[in-house]
Amino acid sequence: MLVVSACGGGGSGNTDEFDLQDNGTVSVESGQLLDVSMAAEVAEEASTEMFEASGFTPPGDEGESMVAIDNGDLLPMIFASDTNVDMDFARSGAALVAQLNEALALPADINVRFSDCGEANAFYAPREGNEGNPAVAEGGAIFICHELNELFSNFFTDPDQAFATSVFVIMHELGHALVNQLELPVLGIEESYVDGIAAVFLGESGLSVGSVLAGWFFANQGQAPFFDTHRAGPQRLGDLACWGVGADPDLLQDPVIDSISQQLVVTGRRCSEEYNQQLRGLQSVLGDNIRGGLTDLIVLSDESDQE
Ligand SMILES: [Zn+2]
Repeated sequence: MLVVSACGGGGSGNTDEFDLQDNGTVSVESGQLLDVSMAAEVAEEASTEMFEASGFTPPGDEGESMVAIDNGDLLPMIFASDTNVDMDFARSGAALVAQLNEALALPADINVRFSDCGEANAFYAPREGNEGNPAVAEGGAIFICHELNELFSNFFTDPDQAFATSVFVIMHELGHALVNQLELPVLGIEESYVDGIAAVFLGESGLSVGSVLAGWFFANQGQAPFFDTHRAGPQRLGDLACWGVGADPDLLQDPVIDSISQQLVVTGRRCSEEYNQQLRGLQSVLGDNIRGGLTDLIVLSDESDQE
């Protein structure tokens, strides 16, 4: 959530954040890499794939040079933790990230690192400004800190709710990565923009409960590290609950979600319209960088199935 780097495009803030990450590199003792096999397999399968090869034809064009070439993958990596944090979320998150490569065409590889950070946080770091850091691939790196998943597990009594929130966070950071890599045009605050990306990714996969719960979580945190350029907790809850419910009004049947979202009904926000506007916008800017559309983009594995 926080994002140091994606917000500023490589300001000095990156460096500080990165000091926290130095123990997470492959070669250092406390950050032993647990699992890259999945990433390697996925990369091998998909790295040189071109959408052209699958018969994809870009819209409104004779098919000249408009085809998105898929030169990059999300490369999930799970690192050992110095704490007793449960690794299930990291494993499920890594599996989810790996399967996104089937749909996403990226210009360069992006590392997705599940590791200790020294604080409960998550962020995207672009390559620019981090060229010497081996943790950061050509397309940057997403960091999902074990400590943050632990915080989710402690906050939510239901592990499915905790994981749904973790999935939202992964998609939020992926949003930052897409803004950077695909040079998506951002109007307004990038943090809100990528919250919208995450809400649409979850919404189109029937996982909107994760958007609402993430909003609830943020609204209940004090000055957590991921509070910087994000909107204030209550505002962010208002947005995320609205977009979650906007995508899936049936969520209001759940008494918890209903109570969280109640204030939105009172204020009369047009949540379905807000959601659909973002859906259309995202479809437009992603274009042929996403194969097969946004529907059911995210598939949870059995063990992490939440509903
Ligand atoms: Zn962010």
